[in-house]
Amino acid sequence: MTGDGVTGVGVTGVSVTAPPGRVTRTTCPYCGVGCGLLAKSGGESAEIRGDPRHPSGAGRLCSKGSALGETLGLQGRLLRPRVDGHETGWNKALDLVAHRFAETISKHGPDSVAFYASGQLLTEDYYVANKLMKGFLGSANIDTNSRLCMSSAVVGHKRAFGADVVPGCYEDLELADVLVLVGSNTAWCHPVLWRRVEEARRTRPEMRVVVIDPRRTATAVEADLHLPIRSGTDVSLFAGLLAYLDQGGFRDAGFVERWVDGVDDALRAADSAAGSMERVAAACGLSQDDVRTFFDLFARTERVVTAFSQGVNQSSSGSDKVSAILNCHLLTGRIGKPGMGPLSLTGQPNAMGGREVGGMATMLAAHMDVESEAHRHLVQDFWNSPRMPTRRGLTAVNMFDAVADGRIKALWVLATNPAVSLPNADKVRSALARCEFLVVSDCIAGTDTTELAHVAFPAAAWGEKDGTTTNTERRISRQRAFLSLPGNARPDWWILTQVAARMGYAADFPYTSPHSIFDEHARLSAFHNGGKRSFDIGGLAGMTSEEYENLEPIQWPVPTRGHPGTARLFGNGGFLHERGRARLVATTPLAPAHALSAKYPFVLNTGRLRDQWHTMTRTGTSPRLAEHSPEPFVELHRSDASRAKILEGDLVRVTTAWGSALLRAKLGEEVTQGSLFVPIHWSAQNSSHGRVDPLVNPAVDRDSGQPEFKHTPAAIERVPIAWRGVLVTRERSFALDPGRLRDHAAATSALFSGEVAAPAWPPANCWWTRVQGDGFVRYELLGSDELADPFASGQSLVDSAQITPPLMEYRDKARGVYRAARVEHDRLHSYLALSRDEKLPSRTWLAEMLGASTIGDRDRTALLAGRPLTPSRDLGPLVCSCFGVRQATITEAIAREALTTAAAVGSCLRAGTNCGSCLPEIATLLAARSLAAPPPRA
Ligand code: SF4
Repeated sequence: MTGDGVTGVGVTGVSVTAPPGRVTRTTCPYCGVGCGLLAKSGGESAEIRGDPRHPSGAGRLCSKGSALGETLGLQGRLLRPRVDGHETGWNKALDLVAHRFAETISKHGPDSVAFYASGQLLTEDYYVANKLMKGFLGSANIDTNSRLCMSSAVVGHKRAFGADVVPGCYEDLELADVLVLVGSNTAWCHPVLWRRVEEARRTRPEMRVVVIDPRRTATAVEADLHLPIRSGTDVSLFAGLLAYLDQGGFRDAGFVERWVDGVDDALRAADSAAGSMERVAAACGLSQDDVRTFFDLFARTERVVTAFSQGVNQSSSGSDKVSAILNCHLLTGRIGKPGMGPLSLTGQPNAMGGREVGGMATMLAAHMDVESEAHRHLVQDFWNSPRMPTRRGLTAVNMFDAVADGRIKALWVLATNPAVSLPNADKVRSALARCEFLVVSDCIAGTDTTELAHVAFPAAAWGEKDGTTTNTERRISRQRAFLSLPGNARPDWWILTQVAARMGYAADFPYTSPHSIFDEHARLSAFHNGGKRSFDIGGLAGMTSEEYENLEPIQWPVPTRGHPGTARLFGNGGFLHERGRARLVATTPLAPAHALSAKYPFVLNTGRLRDQWHTMTRTGTSPRLAEHSPEPFVELHRSDASRAKILEGDLVRVTTAWGSALLRAKLGEEVTQGSLFVPIHWSAQNSSHGRVDPLVNPAVDRDSGQPEFKHTPAAIERVPIAWRGVLVTRERSFALDPGRLRDHAAATSALFSGEVAAPAWPPANCWWTRVQGDGFVRYELLGSDELADPFASGQSLVDSAQITPPLMEYRDKARGVYRAARVEHDRLHSYLALSRDEKLPSRTWLAEMLGASTIGDRDRTALLAGRPLTPSRDLGPLVCSCFGVRQATITEAIAREALTTAAAVGSCLRAGTNCGSCLPEIATLLAARSLAAPPPRA
């Protein structure tokens, strides 16, 4: 199984692929909800369904989880180790990495090396990475992309409870009478949880949902009360609430007396921060009535859950925002009981598992602290390790600063894409390019980061991996392999173990399976624990491999064998600070790190879309997911757009002090005036100018190191479009070979001419974005006066295309129109349309043409004409990804059939009846219709 001449330990437990037809129970690799899946193996593919026995989703899946089966192909996979861009064997690559890390440490000390890991890793992978870095290489320089999403929650939990513990569980969302969602577009980012909430609301219509978010998101639209809070002012709001609760007599005096310290200081700070309802409302940009309604709802309702996510955490005062929320729950004793408590909604599938094994620069293993001497000794004893760092390592942003200035000389990036996802990302990309020795483990060959690697290790992908993850509610679930390891891909834990062995630590890393790693992890959690640490899964130690294989989802703590797991903590106190007490934290509102100015008058906010995940390396390969939001865009308020003379679909430049992007304008009322929202997903692999993180300021929270992704001062301006284009092609390598894609000018030329020739088309500086279609890829193209013009006189790009048969062409230079089609074996192979001022062909029609088994004479004529000979209508954006239902179909059905509920739309069109991710959008269309025209009387 080791293959490729690799000596040393083998891989077990990952090589058995489920035979075709067998159903494997596993876990979704996307968000922190952690839904259980049933994967019915079909050889190299799988049919994916929700697992009704898994408690997180009980069979529900969102659009991303439902489309997992479409993302399992091997196109674009990294299948063999690469050294300096050349494929090689495992031995050479592993030896080189071990040698270079050892040499760097011996010359420059342990802090000259670093690992940058990911919430996509399994717990077992994370455990080995952390043990190798902290226990054997002797540095705490291991951090993770989880730093970007929940490290402020970690700090808040530790300050309040004495440990990084999420006290509640998903069931609390359903049992709450008031659910407060802060900085969370739950309907899009944790869709299955939102469906559970929606179902609970139907059962208990008296339940109230409050959404606190500067944007009118899909979640906010559905709320009973939406507070469009001014960006960055959450501490003022929750400090005001704390003061209100205390002054109104809502303190749980018995609970506070018995379990909570720090109350007086926190209340003094809250009084001085908030003062009056009027001051709170003014600070937060809210009406006093709305603030009062929220405070009353919170104060007078026993069962309150406050769930929060990136809108809280991703801030230069994220830790204080979390503390301000936790304070309110501790003061009222509303914690750890059914239907009440704070709930940090984790972004990634295994951010929690990473926290458990200490895969962050500020933590040790098993929820211990790197800066605690007692903890260091305990872990060092357990690992029998030669050294242990005495201080915390570099957190994400600082780590890449250290790469940039040469303090970090050897960096290993695992399962993440920092060249895209870090703030100030262009600086990060150039730091990576300059890094003396960059190792990347990834399953994808061509990411913005793997392209820069000296050594690229082919890691196993989701369907091939075996181990465990922990979701938001502390539930450990098995992720089971159901596909063979393709090519020479290997699991991350195996790659790390091999490098450890080559550095002389084979005896300390004797792992031959994820089971053996999990067992050590579980034993460490119980080592000298005795109730001092809440993270205790000692009851899962000593399992046989069969028991591990069959492990059912279970919530920690699991301190003893046969323990059923723990749904809630702290309902009866038992916190982890001294004497089992919790602490309120005095918080003071702080302005965001960078203020708006005349030059940068807008607040740039970044976030996720419904149907995409991170940098699109997986979700971007699913045609139906790609269609929901096919192009990188910026959302802005209509009145701001009108002042800047920006129309829907215009090309606009968003600029900050750190960078700029060219994006499509999307107008609406979802963002407040003075704000811009840009999704995080586009990389240099799928768009020319759509990366947003180069624009994001690198300010971080001083306690958590979490970057301020939600508030960067920005400017926006219209960029006149000189020409537009669309290219569709069934040429797979064109889309998927990163080498050719990078040189897209040559690639496109080759596509049309058969040979790479002189022409530079599309011009390197045109705006393009790549959209995955069903069996083809589509490029949307735009040109501005400042970019190259394919119709310019002289060396016209079109003239120089040297396109040869089999090809049909139509060109009208005077009108600035060019169309070309390549037909092979009577099927449309590729099609290009450019236009200076005419509309481009319908993308739906082009997809139909590409899918047609034969292109007849009428089709050829139509392709040259740029439209179907029998006109068809453009039905607008895709709403329901599962059944391909577009916006116009839904709005027409609503009007025609007088539909008033999402269920009625579902009965009529099936839209929203599978994963339900589009239900909030259907609700928005229903609401728009009811405002525009009341439904006809029955
Ligand atoms: Fe996966 Fe969707 Fe469930 Fe999140 S909500 S775990 S993305 S299926």
